[in-house]
Amino acid sequence: MRKFVIMGVQGSGKGTQSELLCADLDLVHIAVGDIFRWNVQNHTKLGAQVRRTMSAGDLVGDDLVEAVVRERLDRHDWNYGFVVDGFPRNGRQAEFFMESYDIDAVIHLELPEDEVRRRVLSRRLCPNCGMDYNLIADRPEVEGRCDICGHELVTRADDTPEALEARLRDYHEKTKPVLDLFGRKEVVHNIDARPTVDEVQQAIRETLSLPPYKPAG
Ligand SMILES: [Zn+2]
Repeated sequence: MRKFVIMGVQGSGKGTQSELLCADLDLVHIAVGDIFRWNVQNHTKLGAQVRRTMSAGDLVGDDLVEAVVRERLDRHDWNYGFVVDGFPRNGRQAEFFMESYDIDAVIHLELPEDEVRRRVLSRRLCPNCGMDYNLIADRPEVEGRCDICGHELVTRADDTPEALEARLRDYHEKTKPVLDLFGRKEVVHNIDARPTVDEVQQAIRETLSLPPYKPAG
C-alpha cells in the first residue's frame, strides 16, 4: 500500500506527475479539482454547493474540500494506494490526514516563481472547442489560432498577472504550515520541477525508491 500526497504550485505539473505515477503503480489519483468539476458537470448536490460558492465569488471552503476528500477515501477502492492532489490546505487538515491515513510520503514539486509565471502566463485556450495550448511547450501551428477548429485563442480569465500573484500568495500562505507539519514527520521529498516531465517523474521514483519509469513510445 502506497499513500502519497503531492503538492506544488500551479504550473508545477502536479496533475501530470500524479497521473504518470498512478497509471504505472495502480494507484488512485484523488484530485480535488477534478472531483469538484465532475460534481458540477453531473449536477450532484455537492456540485450545486460548489457552483453556489463560486458564483458568489468565493473560493470553495476548506471544510467542503475536507468533506470531499474524506468521502472519496472512505470508498476504499484504492487497493494499492493513492496520490492525493489538492489537499490538505491547512495545518489542521494536514494533522487530521497524517493521523487518519498514515501517509508514506509528501512529494513537493518545487518551481521558482519566475518559471511559474512564464508557464502559467503562456497558457491559451480555444473558447470554441476547449483545446488547451501553451506558447512554450504546445504552440498552435498558426499563431493565435486553434489547430482543430481555427477559432481565435484566448487567455483564461484568471490567468492574468494580477490573478496569478494573488493565487501564488494564497498558495504560499496555506502551503507553508502544511509543509512544516509534514516536514516535522520527515516525509517531505522536495523535487525540482524545472526539468522535462519524464525527468521529473524519474526523480520522483528514485527519491521514493519506486520502480523506474519507462516513458511511453
Ligand atoms: Zn478550437
